[in-house]
Amino acid sequence: MIPAAYALLNLDALTHNLQVAKQHAPDAKIMAVIKANAYGHGLLRVAEVLRRQVDAVAVARVDEGVRLRKAGFDKPVTVLEGFVCADELKLLDQYGLDAVIHCFEQIEMLRQRHGPGKISVWLKLDVGMNRLGFKGADFHQAYRHLRQCFGINQPPRLITHLAYADDLNDSRTSPQVALFNEAVKDYPGERSVANSAAILGWPDALADWVRPGIMLFGCSPFVDREAWQLNLKPVMSLHSRLIAVKPLAAGEAVGYGGDWVCEKATRLGVVAIGYGDGYPRYAKSGTPVLVNGKVVPMVGRVSMDMITVDLQSQPDAKPGDPVTLWGEGLAIEKIAMAADTIPYTLLCGITQRVQIIERA
Ligand SMILES: *Cc1c(COP(=O)(O)O)cnc(C)c1O
Repeated sequence: MIPAAYALLNLDALTHNLQVAKQHAPDAKIMAVIKANAYGHGLLRVAEVLRRQVDAVAVARVDEGVRLRKAGFDKPVTVLEGFVCADELKLLDQYGLDAVIHCFEQIEMLRQRHGPGKISVWLKLDVGMNRLGFKGADFHQAYRHLRQCFGINQPPRLITHLAYADDLNDSRTSPQVALFNEAVKDYPGERSVANSAAILGWPDALADWVRPGIMLFGCSPFVDREAWQLNLKPVMSLHSRLIAVKPLAAGEAVGYGGDWVCEKATRLGVVAIGYGDGYPRYAKSGTPVLVNGKVVPMVGRVSMDMITVDLQSQPDAKPGDPVTLWGEGLAIEKIAMAADTIPYTLLCGITQRVQIIERA
């Protein structure tokens, strides 16, 4: 039996999208970013597909890395947030995970650690995002400390993250890249700068390692561009079905708060998907939905288990008919736009209730 709401995964698209990343960065090593349960697609499933095709993967947290190792994942794993306490450092050691070093407290913990093994690290420069990383003279001081640290593999590698790369017209990205290049120019060690947006839009930022995330899952990292324009294919398509179809008279209000009022008599469709599945609560009336492969507008407020659609254009639609919320045939960027968000939050927001099915 088909579940009410399910996410169909086209894992071949992952490989296709990875090839696109490689075409843009033919000389770079690939660190596939699979944090947050591989952007909602399933950490171990995605790691298995990518394992033979990438040089390394990255996750945000130590526990995500441990999960990969416990499942037998044998490629390098970088923990982008590094570690925050000695216990986490121990886990990095035990499971052979690489760490991003972004504050002096971490360096102090590295110095106090005694263990036979060495940890591989990335030293992070903050080029203006003001999130993680060292700035100015601190970066160079941190570098010197790490060079004297016996517990790490030498030399430390060098990393940064761009704050404005998702806007191709932003004049602040080139200075950020230049700031990184200047800071690391006298240091040995591999470099990494580019996320998906930089891979696709900022060739000067490619460096030795690239870190594609969202693009692997077939989404555009840019606000004003859809995936197909970048030759990316969606991995996840979110599906449900109509569970009721009913006539609606002009003047009737639909859903909580009666936000949407029917202007002329129509047929209303009720779809079994809601914010309890991860469909965005703030999607506005008019958000496109595919019913039987054709676009209809979502109307009224999104509730926990259901949304409603105007079936004016589909006189034959009936309960049981297939519905697509995003993915193949309906760009997720459109849904993100209509809900004032970005594709990342939609993918990460898929809940436990949604059954994940791998396309054969
Ligand atoms: C999440 C993340 C990435 C990947 O970003 P995308 O926009 O998904 O490509 C790369 N680097 C760092 C440090 C990240 O946190």
